[in-house]
Amino acid sequence: MKKVLVIGGGIAGIQAALDLAEMGIQVHLVERLPTIGGRMAQLDKTYPTNDCSTCILAPKMAECARHPNIALHTYSEVTALEGDAGEFRARVLHYPRYVDETKCTGCGECVAKCPIRVPDDFNMGLQQRKAIYMTFPQAVPQVMTIDAEHCRYLQQGKCGACARVCEAHAIDFEQTAQEQQIDAGAIIVATGYDFFDPGELSQFGYHQYPNVMTALEIERLISASGPTEGHLIRPSDGRPARRIGFIQCVGSRDVRHQRFCSAVCCMHSSKQAVLAKEHDPQVESFVFYTDFRASGKGFREYVARAREEYGVTYVRSRVAQITEDDIHNPIIHYEDAETSRPAQMAVDLAVLATSLIPRPATTSLAYLLGIEIDAYGFIKTDPFAPVDTTRPGIFAAGCCRGPFDIPESVIQASAAAARAAAINI
Ligand code: SF4
Ligand code: SF4
Repeated sequence: MKKVLVIGGGIAGIQAALDLAEMGIQVHLVERLPTIGGRMAQLDKTYPTNDCSTCILAPKMAECARHPNIALHTYSEVTALEGDAGEFRARVLHYPRYVDETKCTGCGECVAKCPIRVPDDFNMGLQQRKAIYMTFPQAVPQVMTIDAEHCRYLQQGKCGACARVCEAHAIDFEQTAQEQQIDAGAIIVATGYDFFDPGELSQFGYHQYPNVMTALEIERLISASGPTEGHLIRPSDGRPARRIGFIQCVGSRDVRHQRFCSAVCCMHSSKQAVLAKEHDPQVESFVFYTDFRASGKGFREYVARAREEYGVTYVRSRVAQITEDDIHNPIIHYEDAETSRPAQMAVDLAVLATSLIPRPATTSLAYLLGIEIDAYGFIKTDPFAPVDTTRPGIFAAGCCRGPFDIPESVIQASAAAARAAAINI
């Protein structure tokens, strides 16, 4: 039987799995989180078309769950690897959800009864979720997970409200982690990226000033499925944010942090400025950029529309510092690159476009798989065979290789699927 192990269930892993499955190859798709979907699931719209992100992603997620050639292993991690190309043997650890996937109907009765609230990671901590939860409404699989760290029953032996209301008898506090061996001819790594924590750059006031936020936080606010149902409001007072400053290259192109360009921030800030204006015609946006990198097909045209139709102002500059006034308006202090003079601007909300960085877990995974990482911590690939890692039979796609946008990640996923399929023929 032809088999490929795909590690990572974001858009790149999903695309690779679907391509292989359609070729008649059996795929084991392993995802660390309780659902597949990855970062793309957190986005409201995608550039340059402003298509709804979930509308593109959700059908692919559902197809992964339905496809007879794809075995989904969510809430699971690869813990060991033996063998070589053509005959790898991986050990996969399945973490306990404390909910029986075969019984849970996703009805949500348990969530309503759970007394514990914790910050919701999917919504960047901007709202709370319960200790029993589904990450987002389109999650795959459509089942609940109990967060063992916060569940009162699992921590203190008290409560059990979820079990009492579950008519499907799906709650199982006796579940334990299970290990499984998976044989595969090839492996595709698609473990994605993390965001740089701008709290390391104290001059920008993140964590200090309530109205200084990151781009992903704004993405959740602007999303109709987000905590404010799409209303872009200031965390300090709940007023609509009408004057927004987007600060580019936060942590990127900086010898003290990430030397590389994060590739997507010029465009996602333009997209967020456009979406903010579509939500509220009174919004004025200012993009403080180093130099503008809009290199994809249709990207220049998108930026031209942002400027001409949506009135977005692009300020070539270097931002030195953000302070705030007595009503929590962020004050952006910058050097205007056109005049070479210092200037400042008060805004309602300052948005930091932070760099895309390798996940710390990618380093340990690379060690476990016996593949090399590059100088930045991303997975090293061959410049002339760009999805080939340093070990035969193991391929990499998407942002575990470096910062890429969604179309580029999907291209790499299809390339990795083709390379992996060749090993199995
Ligand atoms: Fe419904 Fe039970 Fe699943 Fe909760 S665990 S969603 S109550 S079936
Ligand atoms: Fe929530 Fe845990 Fe109580 Fe269930 S047992 S309702 S998950 S705190």
